[in-house]
Amino acid sequence: MGILDSKVPKGPLAAKWTQHKNDINLVNPANKRNIDIIVVGTGLAGGSAAATLAELGYNVKTFCYQDSPRRAHSIAAQGGINAAKNYQGDGDSAYRLFYDTIKGGDYRSREANVYRLAEESANIIDQCVAQGVPFAREYGGLLDNRSFGGVLVSRTFYAKGQTGQQLLLGAYSAMNRQINRGKIQSFNRHEMMDMVLVDGKARGIIARDLVTGKIERHSAHAVVLATGGYGNVFFLSTNAMGSNVMAAWRAHRRGAFFANPCFTQIHPTCIPVSGDHQSKLTLMSESLRNDGRIWVPKRKDDAIAIREGKLKPIQLKEEDRDYYLERRYPAFGNLVPRDVASRAAKERCDAGFGVNKTGEAVYLDFASAIQRYGEEEALTHGIKNADDKEITRLGKKVIEAKYGNLFQMYEKIVDENPYETPMMIYPAVHYTMGGLWVDYNLQTTIEGCYCAGEANFSDHGANRLGASALMQGLADGYFVLPYTIGDYLSKDIRTGAIPTDSPEFDAAEKAVQDRLDKLMAGSGQHSVDFYHKKLGKIMWDKCGMARNAEHLQEAIDEISALRADFWANVKIPGKADGMNQELEKAGRVADFLELGELFAKDALTRNESCGGHFREEYQTAEGEALRDDENFKFVSAWEYKGEPKDAVLHKEELNYENIELKTRSYK
Ligand SMILES: Cc1cc2nc3c(=O)[nH]c(=O)nc-3n(C[C@H](O)[C@H](O)[C@H](O)COP(=O)(O)OP(=O)(O)OC[C@H]3O[C@@H](n4cnc5c(N)ncnc54)[C@H](O)[C@@H]3O)c2cc1C
Repeated sequence: MGILDSKVPKGPLAAKWTQHKNDINLVNPANKRNIDIIVVGTGLAGGSAAATLAELGYNVKTFCYQDSPRRAHSIAAQGGINAAKNYQGDGDSAYRLFYDTIKGGDYRSREANVYRLAEESANIIDQCVAQGVPFAREYGGLLDNRSFGGVLVSRTFYAKGQTGQQLLLGAYSAMNRQINRGKIQSFNRHEMMDMVLVDGKARGIIARDLVTGKIERHSAHAVVLATGGYGNVFFLSTNAMGSNVMAAWRAHRRGAFFANPCFTQIHPTCIPVSGDHQSKLTLMSESLRNDGRIWVPKRKDDAIAIREGKLKPIQLKEEDRDYYLERRYPAFGNLVPRDVASRAAKERCDAGFGVNKTGEAVYLDFASAIQRYGEEEALTHGIKNADDKEITRLGKKVIEAKYGNLFQMYEKIVDENPYETPMMIYPAVHYTMGGLWVDYNLQTTIEGCYCAGEANFSDHGANRLGASALMQGLADGYFVLPYTIGDYLSKDIRTGAIPTDSPEFDAAEKAVQDRLDKLMAGSGQHSVDFYHKKLGKIMWDKCGMARNAEHLQEAIDEISALRADFWANVKIPGKADGMNQELEKAGRVADFLELGELFAKDALTRNESCGGHFREEYQTAEGEALRDDENFKFVSAWEYKGEPKDAVLHKEELNYENIELKTRSYK
């Protein structure tokens, strides 16, 4: 234990980052031209890092498995991005954003990183506005804000329900400028299959051209992984179908510790599962909770009547509805953090009050917001004695302006008009707070291997507050990594180009080829999806929203057996020397089958409930998460030792010097 050095700088919290930037080594612009950096992943974290590093003068190679960087999963982000700008004048500050994030993460994140994130948040908005990101604006011309769960201020900047897309277009255009200048070589439809270490340092990757099937060697002085989250270990999630853990897992196998794998965010407002043939779940942005009220019927017989189609939700009187979040958490109401809202929905559905056919849905209702906005609009437009019809019409227009595309998406999928009848929602796997362990410089336990965005174990602790992932990805890419990586690279200015004909590259390429051959050699019966679905079911049933020791132990055994069966019985059609999407999936699922077991092991080790990690054995009388700060105030960082069951746990103790640890309360 104790080999993890977080490299958090000394000094007062608010001065650490500035001091660190003053202290670390820089690379002379002329020397940057002699240094190569590989960035795997071109979502918001990788795209922003690549553009900035290239702008600084480094030679950058980017990799992504999509046909264009602008198709990275970041494009799906809907709701917004946080920043402590206090445009609202509601008392926001870097400290408050820091505090909310630490509290929201249930005191399982590193103080210094989170403070830096809060500090840099304001810069992100300026950078993005300069790039032309069309954030929503209010009447006076300032950027508009809305609220997200777990906070009492409005600090979420947004571009309708397409914030991720707009931000990604900004980063992508910055990348394109560098591609045009020749400073970025962009390898699209390329998948990183392994990492190459020379003298213990990350010096390159082995990639597969997904179109030709060709295996390629790429060298660099440092490698940045910005490859996103691993929520798809659950099979069904809100993530893009291609999201995977391969790059991070390959680095883990080469020596990068994997931190907090069991910390998973379950998002409370997703469209409920509709059947067995789904491959993905659709998120309804958390921003909807600004105006939507969440309820289920108060009486079970009403819930049953609704499920059977004998009663419509709009027929239920106010006094017969249970606005359970407002009832249980009067201070935050519908805007409690995601873990709290998710568990509360599960509790009501488990108790028999669910409102869809399977009893796994609650309502998100906009009727009172439509009424409220309608009345306000009527007054603003000087419409006297507006009748109900007119008020509803005006109110709907306001809702449409705020969330129109989300409502449209819901109607297309569910075939119900959410302006007329409340939406049905249920929690779903959304974001993974675990990932590769990184120090304050975002370096993993492999020298020269950095990790940014959702792929690292991140600043979010046991639970990520809404609109914080985009903030973290862009802070890492635009403002943190470009400084901290220079400190490391300053030692490499005389190294010269890294050759790819070394024994290390030979060995790594051979390992990749052997693995592909082994996958293709399988003459079994079952498709890759067959295994992925089975894994997902174990994960959701036994490692999902609520976990217990017995189920976690079962999960470990079942996943291990499933993995053995996968290697013996998977069937991959086609060939490896060309485009083969089934082979791509197989490599990803093979890694999920290892990660899943480590995930369950991590959850079993953590005998407490915190944030998105809820162990049924550890809860208060009121069903809230029961943390154990005395014994579990640490980051778990797992060292690879072969089979996941042999992984060794290292602990990074978390020191809270600026914040008092308290039981989270949103009441
Ligand atoms: C539906 C949805 C809505 C969301 N809304 C919000 C929101 O409103 N606000 C917010 O803050 N967050 C939101 N999030 C979370 C946020 O979008 C993600 O956490 C964030 O975009 C992740 O960015 P990233 O750059 O780390 O990774 P990604 O955008 O996932 O990018 C990963 C990149 O890695 C590449 N890659 C992966 N593996 C390999 C490999 N082996 N080889 C080569 N390339 C590889 C991919 O091609 C891609 O370019 C949302 C998430 C979802 C699913």
